[in-house]
Amino acid sequence: SDVYLNGEMLPLEKAQISVLDRGFLFGDGVYEVIPVFHGHPLRLEKHMERLNASLAAIQLPVEITITEWRSIFDQLLSRNPGQHQALYLQISRGSYASRQHGFPTETRPTVFVMTMPLAPRINDSLDDVKGGTAITAPDQRWQRCDIKSTSLLSNVMHHQLALNSGATEAILVDAEGRVTEGSSSNVFIVRDGTIITPPRSHKILSGITRALVLELVVNDGTYPCEERDVSVNELTTADEIWITSSSKEILPIIELNGIPVGKGKPGGVWRHVAGLYQTYKAG
Ligand code: PMP
Repeated sequence: SDVYLNGEMLPLEKAQISVLDRGFLFGDGVYEVIPVFHGHPLRLEKHMERLNASLAAIQLPVEITITEWRSIFDQLLSRNPGQHQALYLQISRGSYASRQHGFPTETRPTVFVMTMPLAPRINDSLDDVKGGTAITAPDQRWQRCDIKSTSLLSNVMHHQLALNSGATEAILVDAEGRVTEGSSSNVFIVRDGTIITPPRSHKILSGITRALVLELVVNDGTYPCEERDVSVNELTTADEIWITSSSKEILPIIELNGIPVGKGKPGGVWRHVAGLYQTYKAG
């Protein structure tokens, strides 16, 4: 497949960067994953706004306009056609003559974009969605999880912990016993017909899918919804648990720490909201 690297379109095998790249040496960079369904990037502007927020937070100026980004995406998508895929976009602080922690005075970011396969979880029939399983784990990450940083070691360790116990995702709990998010997703619970998700803060990534779900639920008005702290006890006794992300969409969690959630199958509120999401995606 063809990828974009620093101004050029080239085959993946030909795309190479220096071992002195700060992305490689320090994880000094940020990224985005934008889902593309039927050729249309979903919520592109929101992803680009978040990218700019991440770049500003790490003080990395990048002179690429939204028009230039769109042209890069259009070229990549026409060179790599596919029904459903994702755009992966990474910007690191670049490669310099030596390894030093401090920011280099001149800025030469490494800009990389590729397409990745994406299997939509929410298909035409919601009956086909089996749901996933999760474990809880102590959140061992840093205090700036709102930055979509490529320094993902803790997320990788948390996710592998889930895989090792046969689960789909690790739902993270902070030192005060509050749910933050999944290792690569946001978390929603349903209790007595109310949809609840932890508030935006430095402790979570402000998920584009999370925001979309909140928007859909509020506009629809069938279920009340709250952005507030969720205790681990509320999580383990919830009627429904969902995780959301650009690639997992809205995935019902049917088992937590080996114990069925609710009736142990995707819940009624999930079904309703997944329907709203499907309609939005199709429109
Ligand atoms: N939290 C974390 C830690 C993530 O890595 C992700 C996405 N990969 C999300 C939440 C979900 O964000 P989005 O809906 O924008 O994909």
